Amino acid sequence: MNIKKTAALLDLNLRGRCFNEQWVIIQSDDWGSIRVPQNSEALEKLRRSTNKLSIFQKFDTLDSHEDWTELITVLDSIKDRTGKKPIFTSNFVTGNPNFEQIENHHFTHFFWDPFYSTYEKLNYNNFNTLETINYGISKGVIEPQYHGRQHVNHKKWLKSLSGGDETALDFFRLNMWIYDSLNSNSLRSLNAVFDSSDYTTEVVESEFYEGITIFKQAFGRYPQSFIPNNYFFNREWNSLLPKYGIKSVQGMKYGFETDNGERIIQFRRYNQKDKQTNSLVNLVRNVVFDPSMDLLTHKNDSVNWAKDQIKIAFALRKPIIIDTHRVNYVGGIDANNRIHGIEKLGNLLNWLVQKYPKVRFTSTAELATLYT
Ligand SMILES: [Zn+2]
Repeated sequence: MNIKKTAALLDLNLRGRCFNEQWVIIQSDDWGSIRVPQNSEALEKLRRSTNKLSIFQKFDTLDSHEDWTELITVLDSIKDRTGKKPIFTSNFVTGNPNFEQIENHHFTHFFWDPFYSTYEKLNYNNFNTLETINYGISKGVIEPQYHGRQHVNHKKWLKSLSGGDETALDFFRLNMWIYDSLNSNSLRSLNAVFDSSDYTTEVVESEFYEGITIFKQAFGRYPQSFIPNNYFFNREWNSLLPKYGIKSVQGMKYGFETDNGERIIQFRRYNQKDKQTNSLVNLVRNVVFDPSMDLLTHKNDSVNWAKDQIKIAFALRKPIIIDTHRVNYVGGIDANNRIHGIEKLGNLLNWLVQKYPKVRFTSTAELATLYT
């Protein structure tokens, strides 16, 4: 590892409470959300639009019964010394656009379906995906948490569509909104829901209420942790979260907010109680694990890179919070992507329990209680 990377990891892990226990938490975003539809016309359109597709544009698609079954099986096969299995915090997007209704209303209003209806509509098989997820929850290897009501900034999107933006309309016809991130690495895409001056406190709160209501219907419980889409969430809105039962906010080293939807303000996050609300806990991911990148770069170094990050975090006696998006474990577009991701996840977790016999797997909700 070069000096620059080592310095960045030291900076990420130096501050904050130290623990004698070696805690391991796994956090994974985007479950329940469509991204790339599983049809050849949409895939062809994406391929023609850029020669540099990201892993999200190449592989990320609605999760299925099969994806969940494979994930649950690998998690269920590993144990820490106390007999506890790895717990996968799966952050769900609880709704997807209803393209037909949006078009019927001439792009003047955002219509959406609960994610479990999307499973029924798009997973053309006889299995009930939601039932499989609930099976994983009952086995103690899946912990569902909240990633927003939808993964599209519908305020901005509808403006483009109703204003006749040809690219937006072209992609809409193929059930996609991801056109604006195709040729840039900007965080500021339509995926960032709360990057908009149109989001008033009232709108944020009503979307939050609707999203967690669907969450409760699906899982029989309310979420306790929240991860904003693309890490955009104005800090002033944090005070809304505890009244909906949210006790922690997940994220990376930096969070983002907007100054009336104009300027991006970047702020540093630490594993600690949020000063403003004095009840929320901020949690910072310190290990990035994206095995799908191996298929893009052909370097096959995702597991080694995760190991390097883990070694530094544990040397500094910090919990490791692994950031690993859904994209790594879904096979709806390319079955090899799921096979590879599941295999590498198994490799990494098996290495962890062997190299660090004292590791303890725990959930995001439990980790948050250690900082209160
Ligand atoms: Zn996301």
